[in-house]
Amino acid sequence: MEYYQIAIDGPSGSGKSTLAKGVAGKLGILYLDTGAMYRACGLKALKLGISTKDQAAVEEMMKDIRIDITHEDGSQHVWLDGEDVSEAIRMPGVSVAASDVSAIPCVREAMVDLQRKISEGKNVILDGRDIGSKVFPNAKYKFFLIADAEERAKRRLAELKEKGVTDQTFEDVLRDIKYRDHQDTTRASSPLVKVEDAVEIDTTHISIEEMIDIVLDRVAKDQ
Ligand code: C5P
Repeated sequence: MEYYQIAIDGPSGSGKSTLAKGVAGKLGILYLDTGAMYRACGLKALKLGISTKDQAAVEEMMKDIRIDITHEDGSQHVWLDGEDVSEAIRMPGVSVAASDVSAIPCVREAMVDLQRKISEGKNVILDGRDIGSKVFPNAKYKFFLIADAEERAKRRLAELKEKGVTDQTFEDVLRDIKYRDHQDTTRASSPLVKVEDAVEIDTTHISIEEMIDIVLDRVAKDQ
């Protein structure tokens, strides 16, 4: 049996995880949030007090890190060195730390290996920055999400409020998003790019249901 992968790439807050989760639920396939893995690496650096830009220190840190992914009732849990950090990785400072460490090649290599291993022998939908370009360049379905930075900051702020984080302003969130956009698109190692065979979806003005339908229509055409 041949398995397929659905790659969902795009910048922060473009709606990737909401879309991927929705599609996974409808198709009954595994959803893998790859950003969570880079967030766990960023969190470890913060915990150790290592500069997230210090390549040598991060390389040393990566020699002794354990990241596990489990799925419970359809939601993904991320474990860092045996501790469930699913909530901790969503805290504001971790976004920028994740973006910093994800620019370091040895971090990317380790996470890409893990993503391919978890995806083996199943139909999967993954969201990230390099799924269609690097992790699964032969993925059967590729989508690239875009949305205005202001709209993305608005969504991210709402998400944080929902989690009880209230010390962030719209400007704080927009600044972080712009920082990550710049860093994620300009890094040397697997930058965020729209590959030629990806279908672009501008999510600024469409609903979650509409996004999900675009992906499901595409998959249904093949079945
Ligand atoms: O998707 P999320 O915002 O959780 O990702 C956090 C950071 O991890 C991103 O800003 C990006 O730098 C990095 N990332 C990546 N490649 C992926 C997923 C996330 O570089 N496939």
